[in-house]
Amino acid sequence: MPGTQSASVAAVTESRTHLVEGLMQRFGHLPREAVLKEDLLRTGIDFADSALTDNLDGEVKPKSYFIFSFDQKPLAELGAAAKRRPPEELALTGGPYALRRTIVSVRVNPDSPYRVEREPESRALTLSLEGRLIADVGLPPMPEYYRHELANGKTVMETAPTIQWGYLIYLTVLRLCQYFGAHEECGFCDINHNWRQHKREGRPYTGVKPVADVLEALAIIDRYDTTKASKAYTLTGGSVTSTVDGLAEADFYGRYAQAIEERFPHRWIGKVVAQALPKADVQRYKDYGITIYHPNYEVWDKRLFSLISPGKERYVGREEWHRRIFDAAEVFGPRYVIPNFVAGVEMAKPFGFAAVDDAIASTTEGLDYFMSRGVTPRFTTWCPEPTTPLGRDNPNGAPLEYHVRLLDAYRETLAKHGLKPPPGYGVAGAGNAVFSVSSFMDTLAPEEVPVEEAVPA
Ligand code: SF4
Repeated sequence: MPGTQSASVAAVTESRTHLVEGLMQRFGHLPREAVLKEDLLRTGIDFADSALTDNLDGEVKPKSYFIFSFDQKPLAELGAAAKRRPPEELALTGGPYALRRTIVSVRVNPDSPYRVEREPESRALTLSLEGRLIADVGLPPMPEYYRHELANGKTVMETAPTIQWGYLIYLTVLRLCQYFGAHEECGFCDINHNWRQHKREGRPYTGVKPVADVLEALAIIDRYDTTKASKAYTLTGGSVTSTVDGLAEADFYGRYAQAIEERFPHRWIGKVVAQALPKADVQRYKDYGITIYHPNYEVWDKRLFSLISPGKERYVGREEWHRRIFDAAEVFGPRYVIPNFVAGVEMAKPFGFAAVDDAIASTTEGLDYFMSRGVTPRFTTWCPEPTTPLGRDNPNGAPLEYHVRLLDAYRETLAKHGLKPPPGYGVAGAGNAVFSVSSFMDTLAPEEVPVEEAVPA
């Protein structure tokens, strides 16, 4: 019965648009851009071949796979997108929601109702939802510094990729985590799998980046980034529970900061994402020249923390992790300690909250706990990567309502404690924000993070 089939297909295909527009209406005090961006981040995007890049040979900046895969299918199932990379980010404008410029990180999902393709006649790129055009799409231009290689033939994209429309240099200097296997790896994290899949596909993917390579790549960026669009670097990678190159975690990551600050003093804001370390180690980060410290707590709820981040529970423990966040605030100043959590994993089956109300109440309790002491967490939107336990069991991620209500709760809790958004993320506000893996910066008012705070000295 073709008629019945098309009627049921219509009912299904209408549903996502209704969901998104219903939430835009219900939360009319939040920017529409933020609602759409959250849905794109949790769902991923299907790319037509015509919307893929020519890797490093073209005019568009390709997706660098800067730490995790951030794809909703394994590389081997991405079809043409595995050979010709998609762009790193999209800039969405216009359409029926009159979008102000919205920067969204690219997560590939061939099954997504969102699709980017090129109009056959005008050649313009568009984003559609369930076949209806909803935005014009701009792509990041290939930066000049990506066109130059290191002396040893490595690419700048592999060694020192930039994200957030060029604002942040993302230095994943250790491509593996020493929390290993089901009893230690965080349930949402595919860092170790991503390393394996890129190696299997024969892509260049360095486990431990030599300091000299990082400096050389940064020198190329410094030379060709003539508009000084790059403002910050993040040093990160997996947790170090023993040593790497004979160094424990603070000295392993710290040696990069030390080398960078010696060679390029104050050229960029230095950030490090690492475990919550004892105060003396944290002081070493500061001494090495780091400005912002991200000891990510991942999920607030006590039971969920031990189940979702078993390695963190085992090596440090939840209460100690939190205590060390406040110790770090004494070293860096509370505004400069910005722990991340992964928004959405608290609703992941089989352990998570079943009701949005309960998940929001729990996460808000965590926000309140930190913000009442002057520490402003930030969050990234969970991408359910299929090779992780939580992604495998929750291919659709968390409900969009959860993500939208979290934006609201975050904004309210900041206001309640009289805090500003965290520094080092660029200018806030819809139309300005460049933070591409969550819309929390799109949601805040522009005057809350003026230029001088976006780029602290
Ligand atoms: S600490 Fe957790 S989130 Fe971070 S790299 Fe290791 S497994 Fe992944």
